[in-house]
Amino acid sequence: MSTFHLYNTLSRGLEEFRPLVPGTARLYTCGPTVYNFAHIGNFRAYVFEDLLRRWLAFKGFKVTQVMNLTDVDDKTIRDSQAAGLPLRDFTARYKQAFFDDIRALGIQPAEHYPAATDHIPEMIALIQRLFDRGIAYQAPDQSVYFSIDKWPAYGKLARLDRSGMRSGVRISNDEYEKENVADFALWKAWDERDGDVSWPSPWGRGRPGWHIECSAMSMKYLGPSFDLHTGGVDNIFPHHEDEIAQSEAANGVPFATYWMHCAHLMVDGHKMSKSAGNFYTLRDVLSRGYTGREVRWLLLSTHYRAALNFTFAGLDAARTALRRLDTLHARLQEAAAPLLTAGCQPAAELPPWAPPHNETFIAAMDADLNVSAALAALFDTVRDTNSALDRAELSPAHAAALLNLLARWNTALGFLPFEEEKTAAVPPQVLDLLQQRTEAKKAKNWPQADALRAQIAALGYAVKDTPSGPTLSPL
Ligand SMILES: [Zn+2]
Repeated sequence: MSTFHLYNTLSRGLEEFRPLVPGTARLYTCGPTVYNFAHIGNFRAYVFEDLLRRWLAFKGFKVTQVMNLTDVDDKTIRDSQAAGLPLRDFTARYKQAFFDDIRALGIQPAEHYPAATDHIPEMIALIQRLFDRGIAYQAPDQSVYFSIDKWPAYGKLARLDRSGMRSGVRISNDEYEKENVADFALWKAWDERDGDVSWPSPWGRGRPGWHIECSAMSMKYLGPSFDLHTGGVDNIFPHHEDEIAQSEAANGVPFATYWMHCAHLMVDGHKMSKSAGNFYTLRDVLSRGYTGREVRWLLLSTHYRAALNFTFAGLDAARTALRRLDTLHARLQEAAAPLLTAGCQPAAELPPWAPPHNETFIAAMDADLNVSAALAALFDTVRDTNSALDRAELSPAHAAALLNLLARWNTALGFLPFEEEKTAAVPPQVLDLLQQRTEAKKAKNWPQADALRAQIAALGYAVKDTPSGPTLSPL
């Protein structure tokens, strides 16, 4: 079997994945700031990380994934005050919403979801180490800063030009641009805008900066050195650059070996923004009648390092692709039924044309998660299976082996109905009738369309026409 190669942002090149401890993969994935419902751009990153996690498991690695929840920072404080709620109550709502959303997308849970406010002592201890090493200092504003002058490796991930850096200039915002490279805040002294949010520390009361949260929590759950650290390209600077500086300066050992970043998501070819009216949370999309599985499919079907253009036409295409897979799956189950009901163990033997597709699938995913090529192998398999079934040339044993192959691929991609969907899976017969009705409508054969709607109703499903196509719901 081929080995897994990934693109490491740190080296700007493809590298073979070699974990620090053979057989295990330790993965830190920057999680949500829980001040609002996450938007589909955020979920692009989480679905990419899910794909990575699943592929590592597929390759036999024991995965430990940590995803932090940022429940104290500039934004959570600002918006909890606007909502008139204590910080903890305010963020609790959005933590729950986040977990509901990732379940809807079939994202496998991480092993740890540490919340920043539960790890303040760890952050203080880390800042203290930087202080003791002469790399952190307390400024006249009482906040504690990281001195980038004292850390010559600063800028290695984002490839910053150090010659332009201004010594002793400070920035206390959590988020800033490359033009504002400066000493960044590790501990922010309390000020009026923080209201009742503060913790005591050796430097007076205050709160942690955003970047130190991830350094402290990754260290606690994964150790000072671990294998993979991921996020969106927006995280490269300053967040990940600052994380590396803090962690390596405090621990004296390399932080993460591989850095992986997923590209932006666009909507209808434009940057997503509230002012442009093309800003969508997952909930917005689901309320239009799409399923989490369809959204997942769209988010994962573009390579993670390419910009993804999110459109509703793309979601319709996702729906069509998934229906093809579901129909094939049902056909295979039917074809394998004689064997399965006879209680025989399905033979592992695939029909002779299938193993090359499996090899293509694995080689594609091993090449930096080349999902487009993997999906091509999947649909070549669908095509060949359908034609073997059409010719009545697929034995029950071959059908069972193909079901096993799909199940195996599904562990990597998560395209088959999720557990909660399974109970509600629409029978293929109903999907066929729905397809016939769509065609009847296209041909403006209204009596036929109505008759098909009645047949679908007789099988227990209501059809609803939406701008993006018909949807089914159980009666
Ligand atoms: Zn982070």
